[in-house]
Amino acid sequence: MVKNKKIIIAGPCAAETKNGLVQVVEGIHHYVDVIRVGIWKARTCPKSYAGRGLKALSWVSDLQKKYNTPFAIEVGSREHVKLALQYNIKILWIGARTTANPFSIQEIAEELRGSDVELWIKNPIFPNLDLFHGAIKRFHLNHCNKLKIIHRGFYDEFNTEYRNSPRWDLLHKIKKSYPSTPIICDPSHIAGQRDLIYPVAQQALNNDIDGLMIEVHHKPEKALSDTKQQLSIKEFINTLTKLNLK
Ligand code: PEP
Ligand code: MN
Repeated sequence: MVKNKKIIIAGPCAAETKNGLVQVVEGIHHYVDVIRVGIWKARTCPKSYAGRGLKALSWVSDLQKKYNTPFAIEVGSREHVKLALQYNIKILWIGARTTANPFSIQEIAEELRGSDVELWIKNPIFPNLDLFHGAIKRFHLNHCNKLKIIHRGFYDEFNTEYRNSPRWDLLHKIKKSYPSTPIICDPSHIAGQRDLIYPVAQQALNNDIDGLMIEVHHKPEKALSDTKQQLSIKEFINTLTKLNLK
């Protein structure tokens, strides 16, 4: 793999077909530290694509072995955690919607107690950090010590440029609160559109971020979720080449 000083995470918003997932993994695994894949999607609208679930969990587990690369999936409940650990998925992440729900966080944290799996926590979209601090505290209290924070932007009714405002000021507050926890930026969910991924990612690097998580799809224009923001494999590699990752 091409070794960067920054942690590079990429992969589809959601697994759709095994073949599509294999194409992405095949195309990007030399460039990344971790492959991200949504298999259970917490959707705002009940009619949106909700992921392949258990079926995709076995694809992820097979590919993780085959490519000898850690994979990360989103978990939103105790059941998800049990299954993810059973399938030996190396990294779990908590999505923005789940981080905002103390009941869910409590059950996930209790289920993870005693496991040394790596866990990433995305900030809730509210531009106020109280729920985020509460969630992180619940994981600390349950001895989940391999934590990373994901900055995925914040709701801002006055912002017209981004899907979610980056609020670099809040990123700095988060950094100050958790100086020893690595922080990854997710420019895909901040930008909401392909052509803004590179400038947001570069701004994140200028703000001393520890890594990037970027959505990549084998056919972005046909993707069943986050269609406008997923990069093709080629666009992803070009973006990495342009970024100053040193
Ligand atoms: C995702 O990473 O695909 C996702 C749904 O992100 P968030 O939880 O930040 O909205
Ligand atoms: Mn997404």
